[in-house]
Amino acid sequence: MEGKSRTRLETPRFYEEVTRRLGGETLTLCYQCGTCASSCPVAKITKRFNPRTIIKNALLGNREEVLTDEAIWLCCSCFNCQERCPQGVEIADLIFAFRNIALTEGYVPKAFVDMASAIRHDGRVVPITKFVMQRREKIGLPPVTDTGVYALNKIFSLPSFDKDEVRVEEEQQ
Ligand code: SF4
Ligand code: SF4
Repeated sequence: MEGKSRTRLETPRFYEEVTRRLGGETLTLCYQCGTCASSCPVAKITKRFNPRTIIKNALLGNREEVLTDEAIWLCCSCFNCQERCPQGVEIADLIFAFRNIALTEGYVPKAFVDMASAIRHDGRVVPITKFVMQRREKIGLPPVTDTGVYALNKIFSLPSFDKDEVRVEEEQQ
């Protein structure tokens, strides 16, 4: 009995977990008016993404649903919603908070893992291929030089970031 109550106390409800995170502080201010969804350019083009629904699920404690749904990765961080929310919910920042929690649990779409790896190893998201080099030469552009990845790798080597990214990479092999 004592053990059970200790477990319950040690397991925070999802909204508590989110509001303790940087960017997640305003979650509980949402009263579900839908202004964010009607302002969102991504929601206009796909039914897979609706910021109001994501927030509703978070408030209802549907942790797995929020974190495993690739919808949280569709936000383009335009901040339209955040500018218009009558309650001052920092929606785009909230989505960053969801992504950060998802990252620590290994729920990251492969495309983002590949991008992070490319930045880490080459300093670029898009690789410079032989074809690109030839095209540049043909139209009189100088060759692309190597990027300095020293500073980037210092960031990537921060303990929590490095551990999380490596784990995600390993799980998606
Ligand atoms: S606009 Fe703000 S209050 Fe309205 S649903 Fe979106 S987050 Fe909630
Ligand atoms: S910041 Fe994200 S959720 Fe908000 S309007 Fe832009 S794409 Fe939509």
